[in-house]
Amino acid sequence: MQWQGRRESDNVEDRRGMSGKKIALGGGAIGIIILLVQFFMGGDPAQLLNQAAQQVNVNQAADAPLSAEDEEMGRFVKVILADNEDVWNKIFADAGSQYAEPKLVLFRGETESGCGSASAATGPFYCPSDQKVYMDLAFFDELKNRFGAQGGDFAIAYVIAHEVGHHVQNLLGTSGEVHEKQQQVDEKTANKLSVALELQADFLAGVWAHYDQKTKNVLEEGDIEEALSAATAVGDDHLQKQAQGYVVPDAFTHGTSEQRVYWFKRGFESGDLKKGNTFEEVL
Ligand SMILES: [Zn+2]
Repeated sequence: MQWQGRRESDNVEDRRGMSGKKIALGGGAIGIIILLVQFFMGGDPAQLLNQAAQQVNVNQAADAPLSAEDEEMGRFVKVILADNEDVWNKIFADAGSQYAEPKLVLFRGETESGCGSASAATGPFYCPSDQKVYMDLAFFDELKNRFGAQGGDFAIAYVIAHEVGHHVQNLLGTSGEVHEKQQQVDEKTANKLSVALELQADFLAGVWAHYDQKTKNVLEEGDIEEALSAATAVGDDHLQKQAQGYVVPDAFTHGTSEQRVYWFKRGFESGDLKKGNTFEEVL
């Protein structure tokens, strides 16, 4: 897909170079305390400053540098997130409301989220309590391995749009309502509600692609097919996250491949939010 040279979002929190940060910060804090103690005990300020500078260098060295490929991936994610912001800002404004833009956290290995710790194995997800989308590098590698460097582009864009779709559901109160309802029904119905919520996020990703294509004409031959293979081949946020401080393994499915393709296309072709009542059709 065409993405170079477009606006990049400011809402990406890049934690990828921070793998050593936790230890470094700990060392830093302890280092400062030691420096303070030394200072009050009559240490030489010049020597102390020198020590502080060394401390900073150690901290920087702990940060793993990003490869050129990683840098490019970061820019790509920022452009796609900006595209999502453009589309949803407009849709919300047209409806007389205001869209609150979500943050997107890029990480490598492991990170903390408002929904508990996330690792590469978690896969991408949206955390409603901090309103952030979490994505790890390993996931991008997986997509690129599956779909090729070029093919992976729109597949990644689609997954971002799906997660942003969950954010839209959160803003509209849909996910809250569904979770409440799930407490009152039997397990089978509760699962169906989850599927409907997932399919609606696919639909919303389709709505995004509809307007993105209309205004920027970024899609190339085969892009939609790539997105749809991603929808079915990669269990996007395959873990359901709840604001309980830990990860709850996903007991639900995301719907069949056919269902996901159907709803994405329905959003893509219509661009009409009113056509996204997956609950009516799935239940
Ligand atoms: Zn999802």
